[in-house]
Amino acid sequence: MTSTMLRPGDSGYDDELAGFQTAVRRRPDVIVAATSAADVVGAVRYAGEHDLPVAVHSTGHGLTVPFEGGVLVTTQRMTGIRIDAESATARVDAGVRWGAVIEAAAVHGLAPLSGSFPGVGVVGYTLGGGFSLLGRKYGLAADQVTAIDVVTADGELRHVTAVTEPDLFWALRGGRDNFGIVTALEFRLVPVTRLYGGSLQFGTESLPTVLRAWRDWTAEMPREMTSSLTMVPMPDLPMVPEPLRGKHVAQIRIAYLGDAAEGERLVAPLRAAAPVLGDTLAEIPFTESGSIANEPPFPHGYRADNVTVTELNDTMLDAVLEHAGPGAPVPTVILLDLLGGALSDIPDNPGVGWDREARFTVRALSVVDDAALTEIRAAHGKLFDALSPWSTGKLLTFVYGESSPDEEAAKVYSAADLRRLREVKAAFDPRNRFRLTHNVQPGRDTE
Ligand SMILES: Cc1cc2nc3c(=O)[nH]c(=O)nc-3n(C[C@H](O)[C@H](O)[C@H](O)COP(=O)(O)OP(=O)(O)OC[C@H]3O[C@@H](n4cnc5c(N)ncnc54)[C@H](O)[C@@H]3O)c2cc1C
Repeated sequence: MTSTMLRPGDSGYDDELAGFQTAVRRRPDVIVAATSAADVVGAVRYAGEHDLPVAVHSTGHGLTVPFEGGVLVTTQRMTGIRIDAESATARVDAGVRWGAVIEAAAVHGLAPLSGSFPGVGVVGYTLGGGFSLLGRKYGLAADQVTAIDVVTADGELRHVTAVTEPDLFWALRGGRDNFGIVTALEFRLVPVTRLYGGSLQFGTESLPTVLRAWRDWTAEMPREMTSSLTMVPMPDLPMVPEPLRGKHVAQIRIAYLGDAAEGERLVAPLRAAAPVLGDTLAEIPFTESGSIANEPPFPHGYRADNVTVTELNDTMLDAVLEHAGPGAPVPTVILLDLLGGALSDIPDNPGVGWDREARFTVRALSVVDDAALTEIRAAHGKLFDALSPWSTGKLLTFVYGESSPDEEAAKVYSAADLRRLREVKAAFDPRNRFRLTHNVQPGRDTE
């Protein structure tokens, strides 16, 4: 192995654990700072020899479950990217972030199905489904995956495709690190270089009107339009521009794959819905797609949960305002995502854990420094209870909670999918070595 092994007390141990999410404490017995697939093989074999559980960390955007002990493999030094312009595909190593792939693909007039924030890791995002800025046109990032290199619990490095290992190929795309540590991903790119995108911002007084206007507007949108609405309590701080400072702001995010004139025509009803406090809509190169959401780049602690829903009726929007609006007991960011389009299509080789029948997601996120965990849990719980009559599921990739890893898996997957996942787990990880995050237990259910 060329990797470094770090133990508690070693210099560099705490730095190696640092990531975007700061509210989840982990204290592994050993950190393996991997530089290659061979290092990952060595780490998993070491864990097997010492009967230790194993987890993996890339950027720390998706940290959810605290743990003590075991082996943690970090992948941030595995940064290789290869673009094949002829086949319009990419091969990326486990530690690559979306920003680097966006830049490398753009040279060839191509784009990946990346999300709102370029700092997010490709592998964690894609294994969670991958809800892209281009999602309604091109589907989930997970649907574009053609091959996965993964080190399974037996310490073997496998090249997994729909043909070589169909069950594992299915389970990894949605089951995430339950089935092994991915060392590289291969996936298709799409022919996108520019889009019409940005956001419209509205103030506190406009929230009820804007929520309804966006909901009504989404009913007529073509697949080329991907859009979300966020509701954000803006801090009263100098870093926030004056018209938005201290306000509860609705931000409508737009990513439209068409010409700017048609984009302008489509968003006109939104601009007319209420006084616009900020407007960044313009034709932009895809390399600037991170500016659409303009999410804060600095690490912080957060808790979040979500539901997928079949509709957004007035009762539901009132519940969103009551439990997460300006008068809510806990400052909460709401994200409503329009699904449908290609996100509802079933590809030849789908993964698991994505609700293709849902029409919207409702996500709630609170910063841990702003409120105690018990208050956040209670506030989010009230919101999701109110939405439960219309809820069809939830997406694991947007769960940043503390409930037991086993419980969360049972909420995310259908009973039939969970049964199949448990069987795949029994075949590839019978001792449940990969159990430190949201866990699928190995086993065969008797019906
Ligand atoms: C600011 C922000 C914006 C986001 N925007 C989007 C978005 O637009 N669309 C979307 O779909 N999601 C989005 N997400 C969610 C994001 O996709 C998940 O949090 C994802 O898990 C992050 O992956 P990571 O590798 O960056 O994080 P990490 O915390 O390093 O990893 C999270 C999890 O990913 C899995 N994982 C990571 N590397 C490997 C590996 N090598 N092998 C096996 N499993 C691995 C593991 O389960 C791990 O616990 C966003 C999150 C944040 C914080």
